[in-house]
Amino acid sequence: MDTAHDHLYKLIEDYVASGYRRRNPRQHNAAATAQTAPAADDDRVVTGEERERRLADLVAAIRSCNNCPLSAVRNRAVPGAGVLDPLVMVIGEGPGADEDRTGEPFVGRAGAFLDKWLEAVDLSRETNAYITNIVKCRPPQNRDPLPDERAACIPYLERQIALVRPRVILSVGRISSRIVCGVDTSMGEIRKQAFQYRGVPVVATYHPSAVLRNETLKRPVWEDLKRLRAICDRS
Ligand code: SF4
Repeated sequence: MDTAHDHLYKLIEDYVASGYRRRNPRQHNAAATAQTAPAADDDRVVTGEERERRLADLVAAIRSCNNCPLSAVRNRAVPGAGVLDPLVMVIGEGPGADEDRTGEPFVGRAGAFLDKWLEAVDLSRETNAYITNIVKCRPPQNRDPLPDERAACIPYLERQIALVRPRVILSVGRISSRIVCGVDTSMGEIRKQAFQYRGVPVVATYHPSAVLRNETLKRPVWEDLKRLRAICDRS
């Protein structure tokens, strides 16, 4: 076969197998993530045991993921932690230094503060909560995750929601809340509104780190936590 035919065959193979993704590296990366995070519809009908198995596979895929540039600067990816079928899934923006070092979500001072919030409304990552982030690897100097990084990582979050099946989502912080709620307004505005993400009700509130820096935010957070608990009790 000559070179021109060889090239044509390669194009046809590409078209059939991946819709020409090889011609666009960015699409190829998105496809790679989708392959490690596929079949969200199917996830909704499998048994608890099968969901546990798929979640373990997903965690392993996240730990070894290289689908965006954050993989080059992380120490450890931070997939998430908690139980299946929780009352609440907490979604933050991304891992910080303590999380990057340990591979666990929301550890250190902000994590201990979050645990107190949850405990105040009878929630806990050990028994009835699951905790994760929009991006699973730490952005350098804790900067906001870039749009490409978020886009590469969101399929993992969507699969986690389908597999874990929380009754309510608690988004903490501006970046997480803007993404989950699909709006571009201030945290003060977002937390006053009702949203859903992937069919799950969302309560948006401030990030524990922000409240540690500004104690006047404690009162609105408490109002949000009471609202969260009320939705848990109704659903
Ligand atoms: S942030 Fe997400 S997409 Fe990027 S390397 Fe980490 S796990 Fe993969």
